[in-house]
Amino acid sequence: MDEKNIPIRTYQVCNVLEPNQNNWLRTDWIHRSGAQRVYVEVKFTLRDCNSLPGVTGTCKETFNLYYHESNEDRESYIKESSFIKVDTVAADESFTQVDVGDRIMKLNTEVRDVKVTTRKGFYLAFQDVGACIALVSVRVFYKTCPLTIRNLATFPDTVTGADTSSLVEVRGSCVNQSEEKEEPKMYCGADGEWLVPIGGCLCSPGYEDKGGVCKACSVGFYKAKSSDTGCSKCPPHSHSLRDGATVCDCHSGYFHADSDPPSMACTQPPSAPQQLISVVNETSVVLEWAPPRRLGGRSDTSYSLECLICQAGSHNRGLCLPCSSDVLFSPSQTGLKTTRVVVSELRAHTHYTFIVHAHNGVSRASGAGATQSVSVTVTTNQAAPSPVSFIQATDVTRHSLSLSWQQPDRPNGVILEYEVKFYEKDQKERSYRIMRTFSRSVDVTGLNPLTVYVFHARARTAAGYGEFSGPFEFSTNSGSLTITSTNIYITHAAVTQLMFVTLLCFPPSPLPPLLSHLSSTAGVKIYVDPFTYEDPDQAIHEFAKEIDVSSIHIERVIGMGEFGEVCSGRLRVQGKREIYVAIKSLKAGYSDKQRRDFLSEASIMGQFDHPNIIRLEGVVTRCKPLMIVTEYMENGSLDAFLRKHDGQFTVIQLVGMLRGIASGMKYLSDMSYVHRDLAARNILVNSNLVCKVSDFGLSRVLEDDPEAAYTTRIPIRWTAPEAITYRKFTTASDVWSYGIVMWEVVSYGERPYWDMNNQDVIKAIEEGYRLPAPMDCPVVLHQLMLDCWERERAERPTFSQILNMLDKLIRNPGTLRRTGSGVGSEVCVSVIPEVCMPEWSVCQWLQSIGLERYRDTLAAAGYTSLDSLLTLTHQ
Ligand code: AMP
Repeated sequence: MDEKNIPIRTYQVCNVLEPNQNNWLRTDWIHRSGAQRVYVEVKFTLRDCNSLPGVTGTCKETFNLYYHESNEDRESYIKESSFIKVDTVAADESFTQVDVGDRIMKLNTEVRDVKVTTRKGFYLAFQDVGACIALVSVRVFYKTCPLTIRNLATFPDTVTGADTSSLVEVRGSCVNQSEEKEEPKMYCGADGEWLVPIGGCLCSPGYEDKGGVCKACSVGFYKAKSSDTGCSKCPPHSHSLRDGATVCDCHSGYFHADSDPPSMACTQPPSAPQQLISVVNETSVVLEWAPPRRLGGRSDTSYSLECLICQAGSHNRGLCLPCSSDVLFSPSQTGLKTTRVVVSELRAHTHYTFIVHAHNGVSRASGAGATQSVSVTVTTNQAAPSPVSFIQATDVTRHSLSLSWQQPDRPNGVILEYEVKFYEKDQKERSYRIMRTFSRSVDVTGLNPLTVYVFHARARTAAGYGEFSGPFEFSTNSGSLTITSTNIYITHAAVTQLMFVTLLCFPPSPLPPLLSHLSSTAGVKIYVDPFTYEDPDQAIHEFAKEIDVSSIHIERVIGMGEFGEVCSGRLRVQGKREIYVAIKSLKAGYSDKQRRDFLSEASIMGQFDHPNIIRLEGVVTRCKPLMIVTEYMENGSLDAFLRKHDGQFTVIQLVGMLRGIASGMKYLSDMSYVHRDLAARNILVNSNLVCKVSDFGLSRVLEDDPEAAYTTRIPIRWTAPEAITYRKFTTASDVWSYGIVMWEVVSYGERPYWDMNNQDVIKAIEEGYRLPAPMDCPVVLHQLMLDCWERERAERPTFSQILNMLDKLIRNPGTLRRTGSGVGSEVCVSVIPEVCMPEWSVCQWLQSIGLERYRDTLAAAGYTSLDSLLTLTHQ
């Protein structure tokens, strides 16, 4: 019976009166179940030996607890010695008497633990050595640290370690919708308690911790990062439509920049900048504007500038081209935080359109090309050229220095001349000399031997002089006097100066090589067709000088001609200064006919001697390849040159070019030479802007080919109708072509009749159509063109009349002011100031250029007024 008199079963023994008791009670096999330390809780009652009457020393008050590890679950016999003693167990309490009726029963509970790690299970045994004992219950158990969640990591139910002091390290796993912040770890102590939690997990984006569970953010809320504490309400102008949002989506028309924090409101790109104003200063423009009216809820507005070169008056972006990369933007072109930019290094006299775009952090997100902008169109003014950056000495003697230099980086127009200032280094600038030249080189003579001179050069355009270059020092040498002709140098310098003034007041006009040749009218020379010679070599040697190939130094390829490459190089003929030349060569494998045709151009050219006709220096026929050597024309062919410098010249300069061509053509017509292929592409331009007629190849081709009029070889657009139809090529048909060249020049290299096909051009001309005046073309010039395009060739002007007409226009630039453009009003396009047309006397003019020593020579020859100077012929 237990305390409550409920009958219970017990194992009992009470052999207290007999000595040497050894009674065993053994359990069944107990499966260890992974436990390493098991606990044995024994409940028992024990009689106090003293309470037993007549009991001697045989009575005991303890029993022994044993265990035996085994894999065998049904061991029938286990030797006593196989058991290992766990402990001798004594009772805490003992009852001393048994009262039937009112019995006091004391139940003892003792717990012992034992390490069981070697086998699958074990047996327990109780040894009685003479006590009076009743074993009420034996409970065997092991301890675990129970499954738990700590810091959002789950730790599984974990069996404690084998030793009382051992800790089992357990790695936790993150709960659903969470991610590891730091490896979650805990230790399971021997008594089943979790110890020392380390690390843990965080709810994933879109989820928040609700009592150890990660719950999705609800609609209208979001959580962007796992480290954020919880879900937040969507920022302004955004929403989330589903649970578990990690970001909120912007309302339509609002945007989020990648760099914006998720908590930031959605924003909009700015509206256009406002009140863009421009101030042009020569070739720079200051642009200023006000910030956009709407900044879109952001404070990171920036601006970028687009720079376009547009045709005058064009608002069509298709007719604009991006500016070159030389243009400078200060402080910058993009990413601007200020509302002011200085744009410099622009081209002079050019129409620019500047577009200011406003951006902010969401401009890109809101779609490409969606930036709001404001634009302004400006026209730059004229500007002086940039400084000459480098001067080099190409030849040094005892008394002279030959210098050359490069064109300034930014000529800002056509360079009219260079000015070289120099002085002896010792003298500083107390006394200096100035020389002026058209070309990029000068020979400075009359210097002292072995003396250091300092040179500065500057360039001049219609806008005036640029800055002088920095100083360049060169010393004359001590060598003995060389036989260079000082006279020639002086003459050259004089011609240089004369050219300078001529250009200032008149167009670049042909110049006599020496002033002493000013007078006299030459007898009429007639051109001889080289094909009338039976032996073409005879013709060539009659009209062209044979050059020794060793005196030619080829430098680079500059173009492609009909027969092969065209190169530039230098020619040094003994006793003469080295000059730059163009070299045309006949490619290998040519036929006899090709040789003949190739050399015929030289035979023709060699007969001419005029400043507006390309000059033949000579030919190489004695070795291969055959070469034709001509003067070098730095600016190449006129059509390409004009296209490159579109809009950069004054009307006077354009007329100056036309005058040169007319003068060359007059010379050819005087010699009864019909060019047949007069076109801007066949005019070459040198560094002084002098235009020269070239390409004397076509006449032959057309004569050889009776079908030429109907083949693509005929330059339909440039050719007079009677020449197309009847092959009636005359000076009058050259005049027609000259009219087309005028149109090409004034339109800066536009293709005549644009992209009309040849048949349509022929038809249109036949029906009386004529090319209209190019943009800004003075009315008088277009009238002159129309005159050249008279159907009746006898009604066309002669080259002599054309030349006179152009000279008149140059002398009265006011006549060039009226242009056809601008409805109802007159537009002034001439920028030549009146001061360029001084009412000077020949004497004043000569004085101003330091050539008054020629006064008498000119007067004696009848040149008493400036007008009369214009009638100077080459001879
Ligand atoms: P052509 O065969 O004469 O038409 O020459 C072909 C190209 O070479 C021309 O369009 C020019 O660009 C170049 N060229 C020809 N002659 C000269 C020259 N004397 N000076 C400079 N460039 C030239």
